[in-house]
Amino acid sequence: MVSSDQLPKNYDFAEVEERWRSTWCDEDHYFDKNSKKPQFVIDTPPPYPTGNFHIGNALNWCYIDFFARYKRMKGYNVMFPQGWDCHGLPTEVKVEELNHITKNDVSREEFRRMCHELTEKNISLMRLTLRKMAFSTDWSNEYITMKPEYYGKTQLSFLRMLKSGYIYQSEHPVNYCIRCETAIAFAEVAYDDRNTQLNYFDFDGIEIATTRPELLAACVAVAVHPTDERYHHLIGRTMKVPLFGHEVPVVLDEAVDPAFGSGAVMICTFGDKQDVHWWKQHNLALRKAIDRQGRMTGIAGKYEGLNTTDCRTAILDDMKAENILKRQEQLAQRVGACWRCKTPIEILSERQWFVKIMPEEIQKAAHQITWYPEHMLLRMENWVEQMEWDWCISRQRIFATPIPVWFCKKCGDMELPDEKDLPVDPTLVSPNHPCKKCGSTEFAGEVDVLDTWMDSSISVLNVTGWDGSGTPPYFPAQIRPQGHDIIRTWAFYTILRSVALTGSKPWEEILVNGMVLGEDGFKMSKSRGNIIVPEEILGKYGADALRQWAAMGAATGSDIMFNWNDVVAASRFQTKMWNIAKFALIQLEKEGFDQNAPVTALADKWLLVRLSDTIQEVSTAMESYQFDTALKAIREFAWDALADNYIELVKGRLYTGDASRQGALLVLHTAFDALCKLLAPFTPYFAEECYSHLNKGKSVHKQPWVSFTYEDEAARYEGNLLAQVVGEVRKFKHDTKLALNAPLGKVTIYSPHTVNDEGDTGRTLNADVHWRTDAAKLDRVITDIDFNRAVIGPVFRKQAQAFMTAIKALPPEHLVNPPKTIIVEGSEVGIPENSFSPRFSYEEEGEKVDVITVGDVIVTIAKSA
Ligand SMILES: [Zn+2]
Ligand SMILES: [Zn+2]
Repeated sequence: MVSSDQLPKNYDFAEVEERWRSTWCDEDHYFDKNSKKPQFVIDTPPPYPTGNFHIGNALNWCYIDFFARYKRMKGYNVMFPQGWDCHGLPTEVKVEELNHITKNDVSREEFRRMCHELTEKNISLMRLTLRKMAFSTDWSNEYITMKPEYYGKTQLSFLRMLKSGYIYQSEHPVNYCIRCETAIAFAEVAYDDRNTQLNYFDFDGIEIATTRPELLAACVAVAVHPTDERYHHLIGRTMKVPLFGHEVPVVLDEAVDPAFGSGAVMICTFGDKQDVHWWKQHNLALRKAIDRQGRMTGIAGKYEGLNTTDCRTAILDDMKAENILKRQEQLAQRVGACWRCKTPIEILSERQWFVKIMPEEIQKAAHQITWYPEHMLLRMENWVEQMEWDWCISRQRIFATPIPVWFCKKCGDMELPDEKDLPVDPTLVSPNHPCKKCGSTEFAGEVDVLDTWMDSSISVLNVTGWDGSGTPPYFPAQIRPQGHDIIRTWAFYTILRSVALTGSKPWEEILVNGMVLGEDGFKMSKSRGNIIVPEEILGKYGADALRQWAAMGAATGSDIMFNWNDVVAASRFQTKMWNIAKFALIQLEKEGFDQNAPVTALADKWLLVRLSDTIQEVSTAMESYQFDTALKAIREFAWDALADNYIELVKGRLYTGDASRQGALLVLHTAFDALCKLLAPFTPYFAEECYSHLNKGKSVHKQPWVSFTYEDEAARYEGNLLAQVVGEVRKFKHDTKLALNAPLGKVTIYSPHTVNDEGDTGRTLNADVHWRTDAAKLDRVITDIDFNRAVIGPVFRKQAQAFMTAIKALPPEHLVNPPKTIIVEGSEVGIPENSFSPRFSYEEEGEKVDVITVGDVIVTIAKSA
């Protein structure tokens, strides 16, 4: 054990955290493939390598590390892998920015190489933050989705789902971002409220209102409600589209709202989801007026080549010129926009690849998973229920997993690679066999690439050892931790893919965390300037304080507001604990402690009971991922029971050198040892530092979870009273302006039970303390009366003084039980409630004493000894 005088006065988190970081070995956190222990595999989220591990990530990872460390202590073979979800647009955009190029300026390979390089750099930056935060990552199970060994699996999963009919290609309307020049999934559409203009114009004799006149070229029908008599004359007719002149049918549809606008609407391919619905329903023609770059196509005639905004202006101008624009109104509208760049999406009909969505099997698997918190399952249910379109998985980008497919240039037949040849880039290599249908050797590789969710939705298959042959060895994983913002995407897609590829649910449990809000209660954003970065907190208060904030900030699943005060409080807790640790270490160092010392004193037994209760509470909370409950219980025990009460009670005994000192030393060691273990998942550095001093260099992180139990009902009850009695008497000293260590005289404690306090109470209070089991014999005298002027004043006004004089004249028994009325200046008046209270003083055996009651315990204090 380190000599106590070597312990620094203050806890220096920077020095301690740095030292342990360089001492700990990565190998201690490796998942052991040969272990006989039960497995606990975590499907850690692979963050996008932006280079900044943000505070939301930090919260999520703190949760993961809390239970990863806890489960290891509980005897599980834990896998806490770390993945990186690399592909996607943000990196492409960043590369274009940094190199002042567009993706079309260099070859696809060169562009990919640049994306790789940037991603590698960002990953190494983020690894550093992960290490500083003391996450017990299993670096032997790190995966990087842009590496061949990973995206080969993505391609394998694609081929398997293609063969089993889950994946198909088709020309179908999809959500399309014309800025990003790619299709996006329904889950990637973010809705925004905007103001737009509703334009009423003459459409071949009837009035139609539209917010998107630029789609006039794509008009394929006019729809009216079947019962709308205003338009009965149009049934069976075609109508001529203004400005463009093509004829379109009139269709009847119940979904048309006769009260909106004129009750007649035009159907375009495609203005919105409703158009898609009608287009299918009525088997309408397809007119593509907007291309992938957001420009008007040939069918737009003289507007060809304009972007949609310019086209809108031009068409409105021409409508005015032809005198068919009747009026314009402002309209509040919800507009679907690309979640990454906020550009309003277009719905374009394109040849794309899709994953079939089977709602029933997804619902079934989702229900077989335990959700923390439970209500998050509802969000999944609702999402699946409202699913209308299949998942569009093809993207028209570059930095992504290639779709491993070729098409025969001669007959158009689709050719697939052999699974053993994966990964392949079909734009760089050709099939190793001629076309199976026509024998041609000319192929075109698919240039579309896969949605990044196709990579990340097999993270669980990857970490559980999936290689395409049968059920993966560690499947299903035990838990998926993730934010509630990606339930519709990552959780949904993962369940879909696991069921499609293995027939089973991906995990046993899912733990959903909330979002971190800024100090102002709003979502963190650059424009609000309320972004807090983990590195800043790490620099000022250290990882353990940040981790405590994450645990204590809110119940698991709730959004959590960042608050510097919480971090400061966490840091104060460490200071306080460090002081306790030093005190305990000094005491234990004096002569060690006797493992078999008898525990007889009430304070000792009480602390053991409180410790046992705390361990029980913390363990239960950890099992259900209630980290705030767990850490709160630990802090209460450490701060209230141990520091403020127990140590104050036994300090004197520890200094006496009596035999009874041994009991206190044993209890101190037991409590301190357990506290280190309880804190280990939350404050790994601090717990390690304390534990290594307490147990000669041993690591707390290699210890089993605390299993200590201690039952003594009487000690729990009486000990609580004892702690309260001492607390109240100390408060009495404070209130009567006595120093806390000032001698007090005689203190008699009338408790119904026999108490062995080993003299603790007397030493703590510096008083002559007597415990008695008989009843206190006290004489009570009224020494004064406290009048409540706030009651008396308004009722009696000028008579207030007279009222008080009358009360003072009452006999003592009436002061205790006042009559209903009293005579004031000759007239009978009511005595208002709470208008006065008698002040008592007590005498015990003829001596004046102060009296305090705590539950059924009466304490008398005779100040002058
Ligand atoms: Zn976009
Ligand atoms: Zn062919």
